[in-house]
Amino acid sequence: MMPYRGRFAPSPTGPLHAGSLVAALASWLDAKAHHGQWWVRIEDTDGPRCPPGTDALILQQLAQCHLHPDAPVQWQSRRTHLYQAALDQLQRGGHIYPCTCSRKDIAAALTAQGWAAQRHAAAPYPGTCRHQPPATSQLAQGPHAWRFCVPSGVWHWHDRCMGAQSQDLALRVGDVVLRRADGVWAYQLAVVVDDAEQGITHVVRGQDLADNTPRQMALQQALGLATPIYMHTPLVLGADGEKLSKQNGAQALDTHDPLACLQAAATVLGLSAHPGPVAEALEYWVQQWSMVHSAGGSDQQAP
Ligand code: GLU
Ligand code: ZN
Repeated sequence: MMPYRGRFAPSPTGPLHAGSLVAALASWLDAKAHHGQWWVRIEDTDGPRCPPGTDALILQQLAQCHLHPDAPVQWQSRRTHLYQAALDQLQRGGHIYPCTCSRKDIAAALTAQGWAAQRHAAAPYPGTCRHQPPATSQLAQGPHAWRFCVPSGVWHWHDRCMGAQSQDLALRVGDVVLRRADGVWAYQLAVVVDDAEQGITHVVRGQDLADNTPRQMALQQALGLATPIYMHTPLVLGADGEKLSKQNGAQALDTHDPLACLQAAATVLGLSAHPGPVAEALEYWVQQWSMVHSAGGSDQQAP
């Protein structure tokens, strides 16, 4: 049995807000309840979206809330050699292909396939460059993305919070970009490589990320990596009923009152809002969520 290791993996696009603290606290509590380690990883592959200093601000906010990582913090922007090695491995295995599609090309292909333009429901990648590989001359003309061929069929997995889940990855999502044409490493590849390389056994994160799980499981399978156990925790909603974000009024956490911040986060997680010793919160956590100890949960099933 692998010892429990969890993580909190914020993207430093802005300071922590009430919603991101819930994910941080949930992952911390779960690690402590399992007598495990809690690591922090800064997901800053998309440099232009990460204002300088935001990483330091997030780390300061976590420290003010007394959420201290059990290992040195890691930055994805310093680990790109690992993503390149994984991409090379996928290429050798025939799992990826170059894609020259622009957004416009994809929209046109979807329309041709009869997809009505919908603002909210993300349409799957139509598979253009999988079926008709770009000519060598076209690839030589400029940079291109790399896409991962997702396997067909329905993925089934168990989420510790949400229960039985399933997704037809090919139908709903289509082939996933792993490296963008501008050279930015995609979240899906970086997160899979890092969770494995760091020996993460349990992933606890917000429910907005739940439907990324089959993409990540498919990549783990193609790379021969273990699949962690997943748990997706409730979200804090903004006034418009959407996930709390900068766009709908998420305020940066005021960590001058860390107890108030932590209590609000604990309430979202269904923990008692009464101030009490950490030991009590952990006990309550253990009672609330069934504890699954072994990594690579046995009821996870690839198509
Ligand atoms: N970096 C992602 C985010 O902030 C979370 C990644 C993860 O927990 O898998 O939304
Ligand atoms: Zn393409």
